[in-house]
Amino acid sequence: MEGEVTCCICGKPLTKEESIARGMGDVCAERYGLFKPNNKKEKTIESQSNYVYHIIKIDGKNIAIIIDKDAKGYMSVTNNIGNICQELGVEGAIYRDSEGVWDFWSKKTGFKSLALHGQPNRNMDSAIEVAKIRFFNIGGLFS
Ligand SMILES: [Zn+2]
Repeated sequence: MEGEVTCCICGKPLTKEESIARGMGDVCAERYGLFKPNNKKEKTIESQSNYVYHIIKIDGKNIAIIIDKDAKGYMSVTNNIGNICQELGVEGAIYRDSEGVWDFWSKKTGFKSLALHGQPNRNMDSAIEVAKIRFFNIGGLFS
């Protein structure tokens, strides 16, 4: 439906006012409550992207976990990842693109796939584990 706001995690349509403001339904907010919307008003650099994020530490480095809300009229996170990492003050990001696929980017490595067994990674927890092993040399579920 045109103009319909959907949950940035599961893609279901949102109806409640607070869900629409958050860009995330109640069920997903319960599970992914740690994600914060980017607050453009507090930022000095205009990111021009619409996403939610939270920051984790991997091997002592700040890494953002980002979900692109794929909102109309905004630059995709993929096309804007360097600026976003700069504004969040992180060295890299594990992010879900507008296709729902998780990828990795850092200043040092550039864009990297988090594919597992040749398949695009659509699972956040798995994507984080893959990134730890491939780009931080930290053992995890798949080591
Ligand atoms: Zn949802």
